[in-house]
Amino acid sequence: MEKAWKLLSQDAKLSPENVKEPLKEIRRALLEADVSLPVVRRFMKRVEEKALGQEVIVGTTPQMALVKVVSDELTELMGSKGAKDLEPGFPQVVLMAGLQGVGKTTACGKLALYLRKQKKSVLMVATDVYRPAAIDQLVKLGKAIDVPVFELGTSVSPVEIAKRGIEEGRKLGFDAVIVDTAGRLQVCSFTVIVDTAGRLQVCSFTVIVDTAGRLQLCSFTVIVDTAGKLQIDGDMMTELKDIKAAIKPTDTLLVVDAMTGQEAANLVKTFNDEVDISGAILTKMDGDSRGGAALSVREVSGKPIKFMGVGEKMDSLEQFFPERMASRILG
Ligand code: GDP
Repeated sequence: MEKAWKLLSQDAKLSPENVKEPLKEIRRALLEADVSLPVVRRFMKRVEEKALGQEVIVGTTPQMALVKVVSDELTELMGSKGAKDLEPGFPQVVLMAGLQGVGKTTACGKLALYLRKQKKSVLMVATDVYRPAAIDQLVKLGKAIDVPVFELGTSVSPVEIAKRGIEEGRKLGFDAVIVDTAGRLQVCSFTVIVDTAGRLQVCSFTVIVDTAGRLQLCSFTVIVDTAGKLQIDGDMMTELKDIKAAIKPTDTLLVVDAMTGQEAANLVKTFNDEVDISGAILTKMDGDSRGGAALSVREVSGKPIKFMGVGEKMDSLEQFFPERMASRILG
């Protein structure tokens, strides 16, 4: 970005001419960080409006003024306002939602440990009746951090398990109950447009889906999604809504993989429209993602990112700091 900044060094006011190139660089940086395109467009428009005409304080340079506008705007957007911790309640009931493989079950354990460190008693509830391995995984995590897990196997409905788990939590006086849910399936994780002589074709092929470190070979039909909408398994979403209605959580957290990239905006919109999330947990921030998903989450839903997952271990959960995220996104 240095070259573009140099263009600014002689001017005393930010003008359309002297911000043009640097704004282009910023736009590119945001796209490279995987912020979704509509979010980038709206963001850039706001930055431009705020920057133009801005006086440059004596002793500083115009580039400093523009950098400040951009990072202030990023920081504000990602949550200088709004609750960053869990909502209060007795018990606090946290419903976890998200696609399969994003790190939801791991995040349940991390959150449980985080609450335990605040001297709170925590119960976790396993409702993923579709994948017995997911129940086992939660039980194992619970053992490792000394947090009990309520489960009723796979023959009781998830709504019933969640309800009874909360009842159990209340009866035994737990301070917090964390409900793990089945990962929503993403029917169409990307758009394939096969453009042959101007005609769009829907095509069937085999894709290797990597969920939770295991490779699965599956055949499916790619749905060419021209409206740009993400499609998430409808039955699963209805079930999530039913669980939410039954347990009335104090928090509904969407777990988002930081590597999600451009799709984060659609993903967040879908979940927020359907179950009205109270915030998000951004996982896998220890990876090399620049974390553009963070900006998309906040911009689309207006809800805060409450925590970040920064590793596979149970103590790798951090609170979200918008300022740090802003500089990571800008690169
Ligand atoms: P779920 O299907 O959403 O419940 O996902 P899991 O909790 O099973 O996690 C999927 C994989 O991601 C596992 O291998 C986890 O160890 C890994 N994982 C989860 N959170 C993080 C994180 O913050 N950083 C890293 N590097 N790996 C993570």
